[in-house]
Amino acid sequence: MPKEQITPMMAQYLKTKEEYPDSILFYRLGDFYEMFFDDAIKASRELEITLTGKDCGLAERAPMCGIPYHSASVYIAKLIAKGYKVAICEQVEDPKTAKGIVKREVIRIVTPGTVIDDELLDERTNNYLAVIYAKNGIYGFAVSDISTGEVYTTEVSGADEALSETARYEPKEILTNSEAAKKLLKQIELRFHIEADECTDEFFENTSFEEKIMTQFGKGSLVELGLDTKPCAVKAVGAMVSYLEHTQKTSLTYLNTLNTYNANQYMELDVNTRRNLEITESMRDKIKKGSLLWVLDRTKTSMGARLLKQWVEKPLINPIEINKRLCAVGELNDDMMLRDEIAEVLSGTYDISRIISRVSLGTVTPRDLIALKATLLHLPELEYALSRVKFPMLCDLRKNFDLLEDVKELLERAISDDAPALLRDGKVIKEGFNEEIDKLRTAMRDGKKWLADIEAEEREKTGISKLKVGYNKVFGYYIEVTKSNIKEVPDYYIRRQTLANCERYITPKLKELENEILGASEKIASLEAYVFEDVRKRVNEQTERLKRAAEIIAVTDVLLSLAETAAKNNFTMPEISDSGKIEIKDGRHPVVEKMAKDSMFVPNDTLLNKDEDRMLIITGPNMAGKSTYMRQVALITLMAQIGSFVPASSAKIGIVDKIFTRVGASDDISSGQSTFMLEMNEVSHILKNATANSLIILDEIGRGTSTFDGLSIAWSVVEYIHNKKKIGAKTLFATHYHELTDLEGELDGVKNYRIAVKKRGDDITFLRKIVRGGADDSYGIEVAALAGVPKEVINGAKHILKKIENDEIVIEHTSKTVEPTAQMGFGDGIASEITDELKMMDVTTFTPIEAMNKLFELSKKAKEI
Ligand code: ADP
Ligand code: MG
Repeated sequence: MPKEQITPMMAQYLKTKEEYPDSILFYRLGDFYEMFFDDAIKASRELEITLTGKDCGLAERAPMCGIPYHSASVYIAKLIAKGYKVAICEQVEDPKTAKGIVKREVIRIVTPGTVIDDELLDERTNNYLAVIYAKNGIYGFAVSDISTGEVYTTEVSGADEALSETARYEPKEILTNSEAAKKLLKQIELRFHIEADECTDEFFENTSFEEKIMTQFGKGSLVELGLDTKPCAVKAVGAMVSYLEHTQKTSLTYLNTLNTYNANQYMELDVNTRRNLEITESMRDKIKKGSLLWVLDRTKTSMGARLLKQWVEKPLINPIEINKRLCAVGELNDDMMLRDEIAEVLSGTYDISRIISRVSLGTVTPRDLIALKATLLHLPELEYALSRVKFPMLCDLRKNFDLLEDVKELLERAISDDAPALLRDGKVIKEGFNEEIDKLRTAMRDGKKWLADIEAEEREKTGISKLKVGYNKVFGYYIEVTKSNIKEVPDYYIRRQTLANCERYITPKLKELENEILGASEKIASLEAYVFEDVRKRVNEQTERLKRAAEIIAVTDVLLSLAETAAKNNFTMPEISDSGKIEIKDGRHPVVEKMAKDSMFVPNDTLLNKDEDRMLIITGPNMAGKSTYMRQVALITLMAQIGSFVPASSAKIGIVDKIFTRVGASDDISSGQSTFMLEMNEVSHILKNATANSLIILDEIGRGTSTFDGLSIAWSVVEYIHNKKKIGAKTLFATHYHELTDLEGELDGVKNYRIAVKKRGDDITFLRKIVRGGADDSYGIEVAALAGVPKEVINGAKHILKKIENDEIVIEHTSKTVEPTAQMGFGDGIASEITDELKMMDVTTFTPIEAMNKLFELSKKAKEI
């Protein structure tokens, strides 16, 4: 583009844009943010706004679109939701006084992981940015939510664990180095539906990282930060701080606590397990309703809601810590009065975590400060309520309870109770706080009266009864005297204007008043801004104390929520141990029970230990309740380790280090892999990562292939997991391969269970009760009848089954429980099937992964011949 021709403004635009190639540049022009060229084309499409053009000095007009600055946040939200970044370029000098083109600067880049505006955030979930740095298979993590000031860091080994760790946070934005990108990028896209940004290696090879980190988190060494043995985490944290500085263009002083943890401090839950157990969202609709969190969440505040989600995402494995939580929940559970009292206090509080961040970032509004004050006003009641508790966790909260009287008092004095949402709307600073502002306000209010007073005073002094005080734009306030009275004018009157029949004068006193009246409104605006900024700074100095108050509110709220849930749903306190034993009496599935309120949920017992009851083989017809039962065991264990009561009449939970589930071959088709391949991927992940302290749920694995393959795989998997030298994990294994029940007696830790059904004639009734022993029948035909399959087909099926059982029909190599999806043909049949398939195939339409899968499938089939 020939630069000589373009207009100076466009030259400025292009220069700025050059620095922010991967963001959409919002370029401030008067009351609008304008976008040009490709940005304009993209934005007009995504935001559904009109694309116009602007003369920029070139032959062709520049594509342009714009949005009014005061409604920018709505548009930014839309772009962020679609994964774009928005660089906001403001006029940084007053256009009135600017010489030449107004100076402009990018003041902030809004990215999905660094959003701070309330309108762009979900109040009940954190908004995380994650940086992942990998070197030689070690993954360093840095995760931050700048809207609340939280920062976490850890290191894990291997891509599997890295994905599990990512799943704890469900970040909105992920930055990686090249090694992490190579291993994780595709999985991240698949699992979290976001595109991770691969950053250059130089971005991470910064020698000043250590210094930067120590400054940011106010510590003198990496040891104090727990980072001395985590070189990859150092890279990640350093890169994160750099990125935040780059996007926020300001130092984030309130981001001063680094939470360094070891991944094995928490229960490990891989991505699939989180999804399968529907921990924070339902599998089908991806919404909170229908998830464990939905059952548990009765929090009253956004801070509590976010913290509860964190607890759910990070179940504990230290029995002491778990018991601390449980005791606190128990105490609140026992005392309904106390619960109600705390609930009432909490419902009067606001999201002060995010307000504190905005105080620090300088984007706090008058309304925010009113909300902060309102929250602080409730602290004494909260302290009073907490003064009656006995158990350590709640007591710890009460200890050194800081009522923040000084901050409250400052806010009470400084900010008007009915201050508007925005500072620029005025009337923010309360009367009596700043003398100057009060005087100016009085000037505004009393101006008219003063003028009337002056008029009266001057009339009396001069004896000119027709003397008038008036105003015009050029001369301001003046005293007008008709020509006939000029003789009476005293000498301290200064003449300003002569008209046909009168003269206009000023006096020093009048000018003084004029200054006060006319300057007042402008002065008030700037003075209010100044005083507000001063108040903000003073509040900002108390960030640490305020954060502590926020934490007390959040923790109390979470404990209260768990207690409330326990009371409402009839949960009991689990007994935590490290015995490795799980013993549940009358366990229920918390979500299924709550979803189907009207129907009775049938409770079931569970016994699992490290010895003779470590592998339960569960059989029973489809729809009997196998999956529900196994998930219920996993969820009860998980809930207990969160510190929640559990749906059971009693439960002893030996702590588990990891939970794995492989449930159903449901909706993975969307991921572009064949379900069988995916199933085996997951099984292999489980076999590699499970330990003797893990809990494994396997739901009908082997389904996705031929019966014999499936059975052999299932069998071998059972043997492998059962083997204490290999894994020896506690396992629940639902299967339709009745052959597996032969393992009881052969392997010392295997026990058979079945979900009972009652058969009367052709009818079956699901009893939903788990009982010892293997199922004798799969009742497939009865279930089909129950599902409404036409009588004729049912009768046909019975007839065929009878013939098979009497060996009138011989099915080679297949067992009785043939899966509808399994391949029935063998030998020649398969060969011709493969040929047919090859003939039908249009290879040119395949993606590489589809081709791989197809090949895999065909080769599998060929091997069966
Ligand atoms: P399976 O895995 O054996 O095919 P599911 O676990 O999917 O069976 O259960 C089928 C349905 O039965 C569930 O959707 C649930 O509504 C119901 N169900 C399962 N277990 C129970 C129970 N213990 N009490 C009441 N209803 C149950
Ligand atoms: Mg099932």
